[in-house]
Amino acid sequence: MKRPIAMRPALKRPALKQLLPLVAACTLCVGVAHAGKLGALLGNDKLLEAGGQAMKGLTVTNAEVVQMSADSVAQMDKDNPIAPAGSEYAKRLARLTTGMEHEDALNLNFKVYLVKDVNAFATPDGSVRVFAGLMDLLPDDDELMAVVGHEIGHVRKGHSLERFKTTYLTNAARKGAVAVGGNVGALAGSQLAQLGEAALQAKFSRGNETEADKYGVDFLMRHKLDPNGAVEAMKKLGGAQRTGLLDSHPASAQRAQALQKYIAGKQR
Ligand SMILES: [Zn+2]
Repeated sequence: MKRPIAMRPALKRPALKQLLPLVAACTLCVGVAHAGKLGALLGNDKLLEAGGQAMKGLTVTNAEVVQMSADSVAQMDKDNPIAPAGSEYAKRLARLTTGMEHEDALNLNFKVYLVKDVNAFATPDGSVRVFAGLMDLLPDDDELMAVVGHEIGHVRKGHSLERFKTTYLTNAARKGAVAVGGNVGALAGSQLAQLGEAALQAKFSRGNETEADKYGVDFLMRHKLDPNGAVEAMKKLGGAQRTGLLDSHPASAQRAQALQKYIAGKQR
């Protein structure tokens, strides 16, 4: 006799916590308007401004920025609960991303943070972090991978590097890093984590978002996944915002439409 659905044992799931320390990344970057909330929690002096003017003469190479972002992620990985290899979350992400370690001329690594937050991010060094809350919201693999592809797009197109660089230069200028010759190595672990958080909080431009959205579709098609997952993911993330999970962002409906158009153009 078939066991009624209601009798099936519930999936063993770990109790999820909020992300600590607070890293507001970008779930398709529609949720980036967290800065105000985080600013209140972190204290404005700690909330680094990415839009400020860097001090003249302060420079940093792309390679240094990549290394800094890797160090920032290493610190965030220490500060947040990483899903162990045997967890359902880690197994799902591994199943979906195995073979993508050298995706599109990038060196990528993937991990799940066991946190409730509906979010994901990728950094210039190629670290991709997916939050359990996002995986719960998007049980459909195509939709989840649309978000992953979008985040990878920000790395591939150089948006993430620009954002880290600007954040470092403005922060370093404010902290007087010029005094130590703008030496990247002078940043301590806590400063690195803070830099990473600040860089992830900084908004991408609308143009960058459009580019990453399209990259996400290309990414899905390249991996023989359904490109419409990108549209559905965008709609669900928009819905999640309305229920208060993410801050309101009216652009998500327009972006879903633009994605639909882009997909139609590709399939013609
Ligand atoms: Zn984005």
